[in-house]
Amino acid sequence: MSADCIFCKITRGEIPSKKIFEDEDVIVFHDIHPIAPVHFLIVPKLHIDSLASTDQSHQALLGKMLLLAPKLAADQGLKGFRTMINTGREGGQEVFHIHVHVFGGGTTLPKT
Ligand code: AMP
Ligand code: ZN
Repeated sequence: MSADCIFCKITRGEIPSKKIFEDEDVIVFHDIHPIAPVHFLIVPKLHIDSLASTDQSHQALLGKMLLLAPKLAADQGLKGFRTMINTGREGGQEVFHIHVHVFGGGTTLPKT
């Protein structure tokens, strides 16, 4: 847990979110500024800064997050989707609590 982290605050229920899934390890909610008709974030409850801060101890958690992506994408009606993990400022990361973006719907996504 990190006191000032916005995703830790969402995990603790201190900031509202449009939640679509939660269990003991992860919370999943819609992105507040969606870049596709469906755009949600898979967020571990454990505060980890970024993918660059992960190690062997996070293997099961990372696997769980990825395995949730197709299941929740299907729940949201997506027939295909894109995943994205921005890592570090130069990787476009803005919230320094690791998360997997899942987005799709409506139109074909560009190749890059
Ligand atoms: P990243 O650039 O990978 O760190 O992405 C952070 C994402 O978090 C952005 O797409 C934001 O729109 C999203 N975001 C920031 N604050 C919130 C919030 N309170 N609820 C939902 N999504 C948020
Ligand atoms: Zn956090």
